[in-house]
Amino acid sequence: MSTQDTEKLLQETLAKDESFRDSIGTIDEKGGRKWLFPKKPSGRFTDYRRYVSYFLLAIFFSFPFLRIDGQPMLMLNVLERKFVIFGQIFWPADFFLFVLAAISGILFIAVFTVAFGRLFCGWICPQTIFMEHVFRRIEYWIEGDRNKQLKLSRMSWKNPEKLRKKGLKNVIFYAIAFLISNFFLMYIIGNEAWWGIVSDPPSQHLAGLSAMIGFSGVFYFVFAWFREQVCIMVCPYGRLQGALLDRNSIVIAYDYLRGEKRGKFRKKEDREALGKGDCIDCHQCVDVCPTGIDIRDGTQLECINCTACIDACDSIMDKVGKPRGLIRYDSENNIAEGKKKIWTARVKAYSAVLVILLGIFGFLVASRSPVQAIFLRVPGQRFQKVDENRFSNAYNFKLMNKTPEQRAYHFQLLAPAGGSLRTAGDSLIQVAPSKMAEGAVIITLPRQALEGTSTDVEVAVYHQDKRIETIKTGFTGPLVSPSFQE
Ligand code: SF4
Ligand code: SF4
Repeated sequence: MSTQDTEKLLQETLAKDESFRDSIGTIDEKGGRKWLFPKKPSGRFTDYRRYVSYFLLAIFFSFPFLRIDGQPMLMLNVLERKFVIFGQIFWPADFFLFVLAAISGILFIAVFTVAFGRLFCGWICPQTIFMEHVFRRIEYWIEGDRNKQLKLSRMSWKNPEKLRKKGLKNVIFYAIAFLISNFFLMYIIGNEAWWGIVSDPPSQHLAGLSAMIGFSGVFYFVFAWFREQVCIMVCPYGRLQGALLDRNSIVIAYDYLRGEKRGKFRKKEDREALGKGDCIDCHQCVDVCPTGIDIRDGTQLECINCTACIDACDSIMDKVGKPRGLIRYDSENNIAEGKKKIWTARVKAYSAVLVILLGIFGFLVASRSPVQAIFLRVPGQRFQKVDENRFSNAYNFKLMNKTPEQRAYHFQLLAPAGGSLRTAGDSLIQVAPSKMAEGAVIITLPRQALEGTSTDVEVAVYHQDKRIETIKTGFTGPLVSPSFQE
């Protein structure tokens, strides 16, 4: 194609009717649902995605039973505000880590999406994994491929075949939704507490059972009925695409320069001489699309980057003897300029920022103290005069043992010199695994150590002979004024 032709085609494409973007492809003009019957995809990307889905499903169904140092791999117990990630326990006191993780997560999503589009949606998102690799496959197994599903949908509900197939499908769908809800619950309360709900008399766990049934209903509704609407209308990440993607983002894109003008395939026809492109307008890329869009119209918010259209088009290109990749992972700019340049400087820079952010977060998590200690002066008390030269302050402490073992801790006053620290009760503070101990200490300082009304104090927390945390707090003393009367 000459440069002039390319430019003309580019202008035509950019000027084409974009009104389809004003409405959602799965809603008809009257606002009703347009039910989709996507063709069963097959091809190399579908295979790769299936292998990834096996791996992710294995993780989902095994994590609640795996332990690191006695702690679950992942537990997000919002009820008790206790979070375990890869065996590491996080308490509300680790809130700064959550804030950092949230900021990194948002940045990660933004950076990743700007560079790589919705790769996450197509390959990793649980909605896609369960919808396309579990529920949809059962649907194909029971109802058959697109044409058979269409035929079944047109049948009357009095037809025994329809009743049998739809009934069987929905029973299996609910059973899987129930299974997912059980695992979902395990991720919140842990598998021991889940087992308590399952094995004890129902009257003892009404709330837990209600949650289980409620979650099952939600999952069944999502996967049996709501389906692609989650990605198109509900998912906030999906809604962000309009703001994050640009013409350099790598998306699943149709190479209109190569494909247009589209036209039906005819044997022995010289398409180039007739001004036809490689797209034979077979509609396969549209028929396989689980969100019901035509990727040839350009990048659309509905596209979850599932790769089904790539595989469908590649198989057509194989059949008509054209090179694969008419639909492929590429950026709009690369297609318009006719250059293959995926690793642009921008993508490299974004990827480097991501690696640095994740490195910082990983370092902070790895270097996190296994104990969290909080010292607060007893409310309403200033200082006590022990004798002419010594003053004391009373503190309440909280000591969180983040390790999976019972530990004994003790405190030692580090600064200022000449002071002393006494723990109310036993000086060895026993703290159960993943639990918190509370108590009181009294710090006594000599007059010469005081720096006015407030003196900085440093207390070390020891486990056996190892100092594992240093706490800084303030000590209130008398005014060093000659007129002061204690
Ligand atoms: S599958 Fe390929 S050839 Fe067929 S309509 Fe889609 S883009 Fe054109
Ligand atoms: S356009 Fe292609 S990649 Fe996007 S959702 Fe449809 S089939 Fe999947």
